[in-house]
Amino acid sequence: MKSCSKICINCPAGCHLEITLASDGLLRISGNQCPRGAQYARQEITDPRRTVTAVVRSAGEPAVCIPVKSSEPVPKAMIPELLKMLFGLKVPLPVELGQILVENYRGTGIRILATRTCRQSPPCLQIRRKDI
Ligand code: SF4
Repeated sequence: MKSCSKICINCPAGCHLEITLASDGLLRISGNQCPRGAQYARQEITDPRRTVTAVVRSAGEPAVCIPVKSSEPVPKAMIPELLKMLFGLKVPLPVELGQILVENYRGTGIRILATRTCRQSPPCLQIRRKDI
């Protein structure tokens, strides 16, 4: 019988979950105060995912940092490759809040969305060549 502990991150209560893989192959979950905790524990054990946030570069000089996030949580195993792809992007301006910058990443249906409108380059957001 294997077991592990997780803290549910679905609400501020932060329930301490005990997850045990019983000999019959079923997961036994305790410590949750609501069904969302059990769902979270199952997801964490079987297919952990995270919402990805990052910044991508605009095309041209000086470049601008465009904040982005995934439309849905991404399988953890795919995150390093996704970040590598995002850090290699050069997105033409202007970019509008909510604009889809990547559609259907690797056939998962996950989109990468801009989380801010970027029309020009305020000095604080510019990437200068000497910063790289
Ligand atoms: S199990 Fe329910 S009550 Fe506890 S932290 Fe998760 S969502 Fe909140």
